[in-house]
Amino acid sequence: MNIKSVFLAFSFLLITIPSQGAMADNHPFNAWLGDFKIEATKKGISKKTLDDALTGLKPIPRVIELDRRQPEFTLTFRDYMERMVNDRRIAKAQAMLSKNRKLLNEVSKKYGVQPQYLISFWGLETDFGRLASGYFPVVGALATLAHDGRRGKFFRNQLINALRILDGGHIDLARMKGSWAGAMGHFQFIPTTFNAYAVDYDGDGKRDIWTNKKDAFASAANFLSNSGWKGDEIWGREVRVGDDFDFTNASLKIKKPLAGWQALGVRRIDGRNLPKADVVASLLAPAGHVGPKFLIYGNFRSTMRWNQSQFYALAIGYLADRMVGKGALSTLGPRDAKSLSFVQSEQLQQLLTDAGYDPGSVDGIIGSKTKDAIRSYQKDRGMVPDGHPSLEILSHIKGQ
Ligand code: CA
Repeated sequence: MNIKSVFLAFSFLLITIPSQGAMADNHPFNAWLGDFKIEATKKGISKKTLDDALTGLKPIPRVIELDRRQPEFTLTFRDYMERMVNDRRIAKAQAMLSKNRKLLNEVSKKYGVQPQYLISFWGLETDFGRLASGYFPVVGALATLAHDGRRGKFFRNQLINALRILDGGHIDLARMKGSWAGAMGHFQFIPTTFNAYAVDYDGDGKRDIWTNKKDAFASAANFLSNSGWKGDEIWGREVRVGDDFDFTNASLKIKKPLAGWQALGVRRIDGRNLPKADVVASLLAPAGHVGPKFLIYGNFRSTMRWNQSQFYALAIGYLADRMVGKGALSTLGPRDAKSLSFVQSEQLQQLLTDAGYDPGSVDGIIGSKTKDAIRSYQKDRGMVPDGHPSLEILSHIKGQ
């Protein structure tokens, strides 16, 4: 499995609602396209672009297939990190960092994002540009998804934005390719992200995130800078906690200054005191209380504006650290840990609901509400309240 399919599978799992008997849209594609053209014209897309891009357009069945996939399993933290930040990836990242040093230093100075983080995003998004040119025609893919209706409104807006990019002359129609969901170029920008954040760094009049590394790096840095990235801060760090640490504190929602965490017994992984910096942090235990613990800072939250997965944001930070010679994590969590399948996650949510907790909707997707419900369940039974979804917790609640 190449990195792209891993990433797509994973991001699918995080951002989509599984299709339980997906909405059938009987509106024939050509009639739909006619209506869409009227809307696009009203929104200022030129007739030439509409004629070029939409004439003879057909839906792409493969795009629907990929959108309908339902993940059987989520990855454990260990599985995810071993795929995303392995020795091969670290070595390639270091080579890319050194090869692109001059450009990265320039972009970094202008936007305030350190070079190693830009390389991290580049590596995770497209394996350092290897997958930047994309496979699917973006207009066709987005029109397919917009017509399909399951997330029609979202993709209709992406399609309008894709046409706006063509209107701006940033890329030819034939070269405007991307993922099945319309993510484009070196950093996999969707069209709305492109229009809001892509920049023409080399000044040739085109914002070319597909083939021009200058534009691509600057665009990514511009996005991060606008998401609150601070060039003089790290993303966070691995930490250790005392045996009596209260894991109800391990949540993105709980923010404390470093001094507050120090007072709760949190230390650097080597046992030294936390830095005396004026930084607000949250503590995360992505593999549960037996796995690694992290204090995360503002740049981690900026990363989550790029991709809302905590695992993704941890991989970005960790890869950046390894690239510049920082050590490996003390642990990736237990080797024999298994993640819950989709069906087991649904089961856990149902059982929590039946037991009087509120895990949110029973949809097989473990979000913060489900984690909070697990935490309350654990707390009520004298277990370590880390909120971690696991087979153990499922067996426990089944045995009640
Ligand atoms: Ca340019």
